[in-house]
Amino acid sequence: MKDVRAKKHLGQHFLIDQTIAERTANALFPPGSLVALSNSGNKLLEIGPGMGILTKYLLHRADFDVHAIELDQESIEYLKRSKLLPENKLIEGDFLKLDFDAFSDRPFSIVGNFPYNISNMIMFRVFENRDKIAQISGMFQHEVAERITSKPGKKAYGILSVFIQAFYTAEYMFVVGPEVFNPPPKVKSAIIRLVRNDVKKLNCTEKLFITVVKTAFNQRRKMLSNSLKSMLGEHKIASEIMNKRPEQLSVAEFEMLTNTIEKLTQNQ
Ligand code: SAH
Repeated sequence: MKDVRAKKHLGQHFLIDQTIAERTANALFPPGSLVALSNSGNKLLEIGPGMGILTKYLLHRADFDVHAIELDQESIEYLKRSKLLPENKLIEGDFLKLDFDAFSDRPFSIVGNFPYNISNMIMFRVFENRDKIAQISGMFQHEVAERITSKPGKKAYGILSVFIQAFYTAEYMFVVGPEVFNPPPKVKSAIIRLVRNDVKKLNCTEKLFITVVKTAFNQRRKMLSNSLKSMLGEHKIASEIMNKRPEQLSVAEFEMLTNTIEKLTQNQ
């Protein structure tokens, strides 16, 4: 299986430990969880199958219709030769450019030992397309996994935590050391699982919410009364919340804050 050479610019760290691959595939979505997600289809898209070590175990899951998207030509050729997946289920291309509507007319699930160099971009695509993505789980750098799943009050809680957790239940599953990959990454990795919650729309204007969250975390050590000054202009918000730092606010509090800012500033 080692005739594919890892390419750094594609974030390639191939899993070499079968036990971890199997555990990862099994930890992803417990059997039956799809049933609980009404209106979602059973399509599963693996991002970056590489040499198919995870794919092999995903195919054991009868509850999924497994597809994969891979950018690396050498991996694609390897996978075609191996005949692991039927050719019509192997998409040659860039996940970041994939047309989701053409891929599936119903919400689908995503899985992978993700290319770490595009972790953030993958997550922002998920946020933007949350009504198409019922679940996503897999391997990220430990630090990114923590940022996505952290609760308020934790050091890792930030923009990604707020955006993702507004629409997904986020669970940190288990940590994996660098030695199970070839080449080993410099950092630890972790498996996370995100399942779409039932929030259809935020309780505030989404565009402003995004600006508020980003502005607040831009100066994460400052109190909101300070970091949001540029948005408030002359206005003052007399609330305890303004004495907090952004990492102390829940999604619901950011929504409330957004509504307050909108009311105050809309007559300008
Ligand atoms: N799943 C394999 C490989 C993980 S490494 C394993 O566990 O061994 C990450 C994989 O993502 C590589 O195969 C890399 O070529 C692929 N990749 C990188 N960027 C991609 C992109 N934008 N779209 C699809 N695949 C990508």
